[in-house]
Amino acid sequence: MSFLIVGASVAGTRTAIALRQRGFAGRIVLLESEEHWPYDKPPLSKDLLAEGDVPDVPRLLTPALAAEFDLDVRLGVRATRLDPARRVVLTHTGEQFSYVQLVIATGAHARTLPIPDAPAGVHTLRTLDDATALREALAAGPRVAVVGAGFIGAEFASAARGRGLDVTLIEALDVPMSHIFGAEVGHEISSIHTLGGAKLVTGARVERFLGSERVEGVALADGSEVPADLVVVGVGAVPNTQWLAGSGLPIDGGVQCTDRFEVEGFPSIFAIGDLALRRHPLLGVRARIEHWTSAGEQADAVAAIVTGGEPPAPQLPYVWSDQYGARIQIVGMPSLGELAHREGSMSEGRFRAVYTDADHKPIAQVSVNDARAVAAFRKNHRRGGSLGDLVGEQTPAR
Ligand SMILES: Cc1cc2nc3c(=O)[nH]c(=O)nc-3n(C[C@H](O)[C@H](O)[C@H](O)COP(=O)(O)OP(=O)(O)OC[C@H]3O[C@@H](n4cnc5c(N)ncnc54)[C@H](O)[C@@H]3O)c2cc1C
Repeated sequence: MSFLIVGASVAGTRTAIALRQRGFAGRIVLLESEEHWPYDKPPLSKDLLAEGDVPDVPRLLTPALAAEFDLDVRLGVRATRLDPARRVVLTHTGEQFSYVQLVIATGAHARTLPIPDAPAGVHTLRTLDDATALREALAAGPRVAVVGAGFIGAEFASAARGRGLDVTLIEALDVPMSHIFGAEVGHEISSIHTLGGAKLVTGARVERFLGSERVEGVALADGSEVPADLVVVGVGAVPNTQWLAGSGLPIDGGVQCTDRFEVEGFPSIFAIGDLALRRHPLLGVRARIEHWTSAGEQADAVAAIVTGGEPPAPQLPYVWSDQYGARIQIVGMPSLGELAHREGSMSEGRFRAVYTDADHKPIAQVSVNDARAVAAFRKNHRRGGSLGDLVGEQTPAR
């Protein structure tokens, strides 16, 4: 029995290893378009950009691990087409890989701005090569503009400030992250930038890049200009579904799949990780969850299903972000609830906000520098506890 995995990042490699750990004895082939041995992405916007010696990037797979788990890893091979009727994946090398079961784990790529012909010095950050180029660019001591104050933009801004550079964040929303946290908490969390010495321009639309050969700045729609020698665009990610065009798979801003990660209408094909679009069993909404932890959990679930085991219980989405020496952790999806409790502040270096559902039950939390709050939230959620159980009866719900 042949198992084919397309995309060898966290979702793909974790599937392969979990299959072996669960006793799958058939052939496992991984196709990966990058030439690098699979690596972890979270350090790319954190440790890898910091001043000092270049840290080792954690590898998800090495030649030794591939041999140990008997995995046939094809690096530098890009899938270009899927033919589900013939059960084959075609690649840019002209090869065809047949499968009995297929996992689609091609993730996402960085979204760019709809501005043609960006000059040199305008970057995105998604891959190891992107991070290596940015590390080199930072070493020259540029003035930095970051377009987008989401997680990637915020972490890059933080890394640049860590090197003492002049940094301006340009954000389209009036309040950064307000689509995730609401305006009140978005305002509090994004104050981390000004506290960290970066400038924050909000409600701003980028019109064009200044400079012809090399970037000299960013022109905004209100006529103002942000001078910069290095621009990083961090405006989200787009699922890598181009190669599935014409396959008949249901694609709508992600690959649509069931609770068991089977692509809808294609039971021998699974989709996991950043590109999987499904109804989350605990959240009750259809969403792509673009978090490292979810990709691994989904890989474990698919390996269990394929080997006839019981998939692990679904978990609330969890994501962390490291900025200006602070760790921000989110459990659940705050945008689905109402802000019911907040304590602390970014200037104190410790903050927490809890969101509740229509029954006043906590369903999401964001906390800063408070790992115990994360554990407490999870425990309370598993028990179906109240807001009072979580934050103490003495704290009135708002
Ligand atoms: C800089 C950065 C920092 C991050 N930090 C955090 C963090 O702190 N916390 C957190 O929870 N999450 C973080 N994330 C998100 C997390 O890394 C992703 O959710 C995770 O990588 C998703 O894994 P994936 O395997 O689904 O997709 P990806 O990691 O996108 O991997 C997809 C793989 O498929 C390959 N591929 C694509 N198309 C093809 C093709 N046609 N043929 C063959 N191969 C193909 C790609 O080369 C890639 O290796 C970060 C992401 C980035 C980019």
